[in-house]
Amino acid sequence: MRLVLLGAPGAGKGTQAKLLEKVLGLKHISMGDILREEMKNNTPLGQEVKKYVESGGLVPDEVVTKIIELKLTDKNFAGQGYLLDGFPRTASQAEDLDKIVTSVAQPFDYVVYMEVDSEVVIQRLTGRRVCRSCGALFHTTNMPSKQEGVCDSCGGELYQRPDDNEETIRKRINVYLESTAPIIDYYKAKGLLLAVDGNQEAGKLKDELLEIFKKDGKIDSHQI
Ligand code: AMP
Repeated sequence: MRLVLLGAPGAGKGTQAKLLEKVLGLKHISMGDILREEMKNNTPLGQEVKKYVESGGLVPDEVVTKIIELKLTDKNFAGQGYLLDGFPRTASQAEDLDKIVTSVAQPFDYVVYMEVDSEVVIQRLTGRRVCRSCGALFHTTNMPSKQEGVCDSCGGELYQRPDDNEETIRKRINVYLESTAPIIDYYKAKGLLLAVDGNQEAGKLKDELLEIFKKDGKIDSHQI
């Protein structure tokens, strides 16, 4: 199965992707994670995108689209189910993604749109903590780690993303409303949109999605 996860920053795309990845064996492709990894390794691409990511702006379309194109058209990737998290984020990216999936004859099954209230977004993002080693996600109040600052899964150090401060969060929400929200209608018109309530607890939403996938015949009962 091939899915696109759409929603505001803090809608829970990354958390949901990690849950579904485990149950369905899908590959989680997070554009934000890819860009942060390049920045961490100080590659030329990392240096190029740093100013956009840190300020909460969008990296130019051609840069992110190239990354996705290389991944999805890689021969070794053919037939692999995946979850696209954080791409597309603009109308132009959505149109290019259509061309890419058409060129490899592997259209996606759903665009899961996670609707979420703005107070929930601020609360989730300001409390979010990420493991530096394995990328596991925690929250200071919603999902605290057993030991403060230490990852439950691998013992790595937890940190707060520099763009998870209130000022940058507000900018990211504005960027989302201006550039990303319009593509909801684009996918609705194509009959691909699956709108769900992103305010609910992540495990509950995962179960709801699995039920829908099962009902639509996309997965077998033994998979869940
Ligand atoms: P995320 O981890 O999804 O919140 O993304 C973090 C940041 O990476 C965003 O605020 C953007 O600066 C950049 N980014 C991620 N995905 C994209 C995309 N599809 N287009 C442009 N910039 C992106």
